[in-house]
Amino acid sequence: MSGRASGSKQAADLARAEAHAQLLEHLAWLEEDGRQIPCRGPRKDLWISDHPASHRQASKACQACPALAHCAAYASEHETHRAGTWAGLKGKTERPPTKTPAPRRNAA
Ligand code: SF4
Repeated sequence: MSGRASGSKQAADLARAEAHAQLLEHLAWLEEDGRQIPCRGPRKDLWISDHPASHRQASKACQACPALAHCAAYASEHETHRAGTWAGLKGKTERPPTKTPAPRRNAA
């Protein structure tokens, strides 16, 4: 890998790590607010499986997730190469590119 390609990969890895940390912070805030995040519940195994039945169940549960829009934006930008279910979608062909929105918090 050339120095430029390596630097580009490092920048992408850093951007992904920062966006992931931001997503986790958003999920934690929602949970503190009493909201349920399906993929962090007792059936979290469904989200890391590539079995079609597991994907269908995970995808259905994602539709009720309060973080769906944020998660979809993150996954489409940073997790296109990963297995499992993100925001109800599986595989990079199901994830359209979008921009990651800033996490939203309730106005106090
Ligand atoms: S939308 Fe994202 S955060 Fe919510 S349950 Fe699905 S994978 Fe998890």
